[in-house]
Amino acid sequence: MQDATPAAAPLLGIDLGTTNSLIAVWQQGRAQLIPNALGEVLTPSVVSIDDDGSILVGRAARSRLTTHPDRSVAAFKRFMGSEKRLELGGQAFSPEELSALVLGSLKHDAEAFLGCAVHEAVISVPAYFSDEQRKRTVFAAELAGLKVQRLINEPTAAAMAYGLHEQKFERTLIFDLGGGTFDVTVLEYALPLIEVHASTGDNFLGGEDFTEALLQACLKDWGMTLSSVEPQALASLYDSIELLKCKLGEGPQTVYWKGAGEPREWTLDELGAQTIWEPLLGRVRAPIEQALRDARLSPRDLDSLVLVGGATRMPVVQQMVAKLFGRLPYRHLDPDTIVALGAASQAACKARDSAIEELILTDVCPYTLGIETTRGANISGVFSPIIERNTVIPTSRVQRFYTSHEQQKTINVEVYQGERPWVRDNIFIDSFVVELTPMDKIQSLDIRFSYDINGLLEVDVTLVDTGKRHSHSIDRSPTGLDEEARQNSHQRLAGLKIHPRDALPNRTLTARLERAWMQCLGDEREQIGTWLSDFSQVLATQQSSLIASQRQQLNEALDALNL
Ligand code: AMP
Repeated sequence: MQDATPAAAPLLGIDLGTTNSLIAVWQQGRAQLIPNALGEVLTPSVVSIDDDGSILVGRAARSRLTTHPDRSVAAFKRFMGSEKRLELGGQAFSPEELSALVLGSLKHDAEAFLGCAVHEAVISVPAYFSDEQRKRTVFAAELAGLKVQRLINEPTAAAMAYGLHEQKFERTLIFDLGGGTFDVTVLEYALPLIEVHASTGDNFLGGEDFTEALLQACLKDWGMTLSSVEPQALASLYDSIELLKCKLGEGPQTVYWKGAGEPREWTLDELGAQTIWEPLLGRVRAPIEQALRDARLSPRDLDSLVLVGGATRMPVVQQMVAKLFGRLPYRHLDPDTIVALGAASQAACKARDSAIEELILTDVCPYTLGIETTRGANISGVFSPIIERNTVIPTSRVQRFYTSHEQQKTINVEVYQGERPWVRDNIFIDSFVVELTPMDKIQSLDIRFSYDINGLLEVDVTLVDTGKRHSHSIDRSPTGLDEEARQNSHQRLAGLKIHPRDALPNRTLTARLERAWMQCLGDEREQIGTWLSDFSQVLATQQSSLIASQRQQLNEALDALNL
């Protein structure tokens, strides 16, 4: 693979989503989506271990989630930043290792499309992602052989794509409900300036929760529980419920399912779904109110309302938003692809591409950062903010603190993030010790937090009496991972066999046929069984034109059956 010359290094943006991921490139003055090996721009963020031990990413893995749930994983972005390990064919993987496999697959697609090696990209993250979640995303990129040029908040990336496209907006609220996260961002366009005023959200609310709620309700109606259904049957039911959710807008939908016992069916209309989703819809309101309060705006001050993320396709979500704001939301650009396009535009902005040079973007730190202090003689664990949430970044803020007693020899600076008054309820980020020279008096110290555009936090402590300064960088290398753990991840991934990209279209069709066979019964199942054997016979001929034509025919036949 040829290396691009530094001046011509491709300007790439990646949307690493809970459900789907995309990669876009800035070329000839505009952002353009890059197709994967199947010619599609959405790559499901799903990883599976194939029967021969090779790693499959994307659509084939998505099909195997139903047929081989113990050898496939999805929605791992939801665990990013945690110590959770996900089982995949007897091996345990971290969320960042699995994300690295998705990023690696996108990287290969970009290299095949562009014809040159790819080393760096702008990657989008949910605005409300914590410091640790951001660090782990950067580590996932490192594992995939990608340097992160910048992390951009997803709604900010969407705002950027809209800003380039639409010139007439001013104060805008971006409502971003993806597969696993929910972000609300209030910003103002005064082009060429795009100024983010407030960003907030819920890292554990997304379209997958809406599917999960329906699944639970369906099982409850059948007098069953999640644990009473074996994994393969459950995966198949989840699939059918996901489809039902996506088609509810067309009218009442019915799920047909055969687990171990009698065949069953479950019918639901929009009203029924709304009742089941009431608690989730309720959780959408609080971040909206907070973002508007922080931006000091009321709903009627907004000029426009933009919906981003696949889950905003749900009519109930659109209706709720319209009711809340008393206006119809703007859904002009494709909510699935806009974030990747915005991330590529940001890459162009960073490279000062002439077509975009004028655009200036200011973002905010979406959460409060501070340290642990004590109050009075015996109240410890108090959270003292230094940078308040929704402060424009880059920013540098200083506050004065005092030692607790005269003979104090050290202070332990413990850095936290969050919105709660006690550190125990917030997220611990890092800690370090500063040596003091006892002076027989209470000493004062200035603690400065500097937060840059990439979310890199630096803490400076200055002892006021001596002027001595202590600097501490809270960098992007994951604090929760020591060098050994990082090397283990590198080795684990280097030892994996990745399914060859060229063979993916055939492998994807076989996985799709196997899933369809599992989901159907009777004549339909028999028909799919015949297709499966026909296709394996054609594969055995190794005649590429014959294989391609039958592949197209079978994919169209499955499309027609909605399978
Ligand atoms: P994203 O992370 O933006 O790709 O969003 C993925 C989420 O959008 C998943 O939970 C999907 O179920 C959901 N989604 C995609 N299309 C639809 C649709 N037509 N109706 C309802 N939900 C959808």
